Amino acid sequence: MLLKVGLTGGIGSGKSTVAKVFKVLGIPIFDADVVAKNIMATDTALQQAIMQTFGADIFENGELNRKKLAGIVFNDAFRLEQLNALVHPAAIKAADYWMQQQLTRYAIKEAALLFEAGSASDLDYVVGVYAPKALRVQRVMQRDSTTREEVLARMSRQIDEEIKMRLCDFVVVNNDQELLIPQVLKIHGMLMEKAAVKDA
Ligand code: ATP
Repeated sequence: MLLKVGLTGGIGSGKSTVAKVFKVLGIPIFDADVVAKNIMATDTALQQAIMQTFGADIFENGELNRKKLAGIVFNDAFRLEQLNALVHPAAIKAADYWMQQQLTRYAIKEAALLFEAGSASDLDYVVGVYAPKALRVQRVMQRDSTTREEVLARMSRQIDEEIKMRLCDFVVVNNDQELLIPQVLKIHGMLMEKAAVKDA
């Protein structure tokens, strides 16, 4: 039976980078953040609920104006929570369905807000990606051409990294490019063993 594995970490910790390594090893990856965006663009029932909560002018020519919505939730924790409460259940459902289709020993669901969205409970194991805050800020500023303040504001909406890592079964420390691949290889080996035990 397939082992369901989560992959999480704070902004700029290197989740996508680690996911790429797992992918090279043949492990399928479900990118929850990308899927959530797609669902918001295509799921009419969800769009209806978003319209009821955030008003009709959040839509332009029948299409959800994501920029406008982001502007509303950006500095408003309550509004962000309202949006997440609508989007997360649909994204979790999509991930469950996707997991059922996978034929590998284990498959990975990558999500920045795995614990925050309450979707970790359904997973067998969670891999956390950790990098020191200063390094994460530097990486995201460079990657997104954004300011320190904006990155810090985005970070403030996530669970503290140290707490998040304590909730994970495996942790990749991503502060050195050379050490990244050996760590992922080791975790891959352990997950393959655990999947074999589950199968036996
Ligand atoms: P987000 O949650 O914002 O999507 P993330 O956790 O997926 O971020 P990545 O996009 O993988 O993080 O990494 C952030 C940036 O840091 C990227 O530009 C990536 O290329 C770079 N990066 C990640 N790991 C390393 C590393 N070990 N050495 C150098 N650069 C790295």
